[in-house]
Amino acid sequence: MSRQFFVGGNFKMNPCSQAEKIALVKILNEADLDPSTEVILAPPSLYLIPLLETVKKGIKVSAQNCFNKNSGAYTGEISPTQLANAGIPFVILGHSERRTLFHETSELVAEKTRAALDASLSVILCVGETLQERESGQTTAVVESQLKAVVDLLKENDWSKVVIAYEPVWAIGTGKVATPAQAQETQAEIRSYLSKAVSPSVAANTRIIYGGSVNAKNCRELATLPDVDGFLVGGASLKPEFVDIVNSRR
Ligand code: PEP
Repeated sequence: MSRQFFVGGNFKMNPCSQAEKIALVKILNEADLDPSTEVILAPPSLYLIPLLETVKKGIKVSAQNCFNKNSGAYTGEISPTQLANAGIPFVILGHSERRTLFHETSELVAEKTRAALDASLSVILCVGETLQERESGQTTAVVESQLKAVVDLLKENDWSKVVIAYEPVWAIGTGKVATPAQAQETQAEIRSYLSKAVSPSVAANTRIIYGGSVNAKNCRELATLPDVDGFLVGGASLKPEFVDIVNSRR
């Protein structure tokens, strides 16, 4: 089964100005992007609709988060239905910055995933271990427990709208990328967990992408790995080298 290569750009809380945003969109709109790669850009909420209106056809837009309820007294939150009604097809959930800085539990991430799928959004579901967890041999257990919370709330056919982003916390924004062996080993374990916990067909069809200090230099080797179906890119998604990452399988 061939899984379409997927590259997401997570702008986080950047850029700060409209001028920077326009420069970034201009670079992407003018770039020769591999048409066989699915490209998703996740700007801050304020820029979702302007980006949707200016980015070239073929590039999709994603929110960086949403709530687990559709409406009500939840000041500051954005609901999955609001995103879907605004024409936003994707949402990133469970990013390590949400889990760590905003204390999101795996159960909350699972509820958000359920709510997003119910609103017909596709989900980029982030999982990953801390350095301490890796060094104490807990990587598999941590990642599986983050996934289990979601597995428990999803039906088999929901998985066609989920992309799993394996993002070791120690690699995010640190310049310390996982080695190809580390990325391949953990992503193969995730696929094998999906096979046991959901089904062999979901395991074979679900895209598992890698995130954590991916750049133009390290993307090509990672892109050759059998269980790396693309990337979630933070820092480098704000730079022209994002184009090289999108084209890393070319
Ligand atoms: C991310 O924010 O998902 C990420 C992977 O960041 P960076 O590429 O900067 O490590």
